[in-house]
Amino acid sequence: MRVRVLGAAAGGGFPQWNCGCANCRAVRAREPGWRARTQDCLAVIASDDAAILCNASPDLARQLEATVALHPRAPRHTPISAIVLTNGDLDHVLGLLSLREAQPLAIYATETVRRSLVERNALFATLARFPGQSVWRPLELDRERELADPAGKAIGVAVRARAVPGKPPAHLRGAHPSPEDNIALELRDVRTDRRVVYAPNAAAPVPGLGDGAELLLFDGTFWSDDELGRAEVGAARAAEMAHLPIGGADGSLARVRPSCRHKLFTHINNTNPILAPSSPERLAVRAAGWDIADDGMELAL
Ligand SMILES: [Zn+2]
Ligand SMILES: [Zn+2]
Repeated sequence: MRVRVLGAAAGGGFPQWNCGCANCRAVRAREPGWRARTQDCLAVIASDDAAILCNASPDLARQLEATVALHPRAPRHTPISAIVLTNGDLDHVLGLLSLREAQPLAIYATETVRRSLVERNALFATLARFPGQSVWRPLELDRERELADPAGKAIGVAVRARAVPGKPPAHLRGAHPSPEDNIALELRDVRTDRRVVYAPNAAAPVPGLGDGAELLLFDGTFWSDDELGRAEVGAARAAEMAHLPIGGADGSLARVRPSCRHKLFTHINNTNPILAPSSPERLAVRAAGWDIADDGMELAL
């Protein structure tokens, strides 16, 4: 299987339309070394005619156009065989509404997330305009299941949901907090047995997550807990937003140390200093054996 980063920014993107932080100004000015990023979304290309989307970002239409492997091969067609959601954040699900053109969809989510979206959010009725338009399939924590397209044909990739500390987004609050609110996806190529682990939102380390995998993509939203305050764009701390910062004694560089071949930070907020081409923070990430995801980055596993 191949893994392609469709977008590597946190919600809002990079630059973000209403953000004038130093990073957003630098990338808007096209300063050398700076790269814009769309909102976080990952494609796993299982074979020539079957691809899996992990999350569906608000930038999905543009991300699909930029990715030849995800283009239709017939007047009405898509190689997207299944979509797997890590949580109900708007930056992870709004793109589903861009996939509403009468195309059958197989959507995998925990039952907690499915129920919150479909039963509490009337907009999702647009994905249920005819029988079979959306086939929602439940992800149960710690139980692997093989992914299939809307018609039930196997894709050759299995997924296992791992509970990850997080919190439900504002539009889903009120429901009881559940370990199903936020998950990491372990995707395994059933032919080669190779695994990629995708954890774009994590409030704390998860023991063993990524061990033995070829690739771990992990929450790189913030470098420090008080980053928004420092950039003067907000007061919320990373911990309140359920994101483990990268830096510091309690950060992911110090505490997330999986034995896996490649480690990438993704879901990067536009205020994060690792976006700056030669910042000390970026160099620290590299020195620790991690890399920083870019839109369009692709790895064959
Ligand atoms: Zn997000
Ligand atoms: Zn910004």
